[in-house]
Amino acid sequence: MPPRYSYYQKGSPFNEWHRRIDGLAAVDVDLMEVCSKCFRPLLLIEHAFDKGQTYKNCTAVMKLSRMSGVEAILILYSQDMKQFRVRKLTPTLGNFKKIKDKVLIRYLQILHNKHKCI
Ligand SMILES: [Zn+2]
Repeated sequence: MPPRYSYYQKGSPFNEWHRRIDGLAAVDVDLMEVCSKCFRPLLLIEHAFDKGQTYKNCTAVMKLSRMSGVEAILILYSQDMKQFRVRKLTPTLGNFKKIKDKVLIRYLQILHNKHKCI
């Protein structure tokens, strides 16, 4: 009989272990764009498969963003990774925008190009 859930569906073994402890709470930060040279965080990214949803809870990543000063965005992605719906989470909450993969790549490249290693 196959396992009821794979690790991919459940999350990591550590996350599952953590989840069973009463009184604790945690969320995953989906992705953090960093400088490839100095590893300075450049962008916090919350992401999910695009099912046409109009809401995704991003409360924790938005709080982390405001505390750290690192901007955050939400990316909803299509199966083929060619089309995205993107919403700025901080410094101000924006509306969803439909963009193509090349536009998202360019946005991320510009973020890297603007960064100066300290
Ligand atoms: Zn750097």
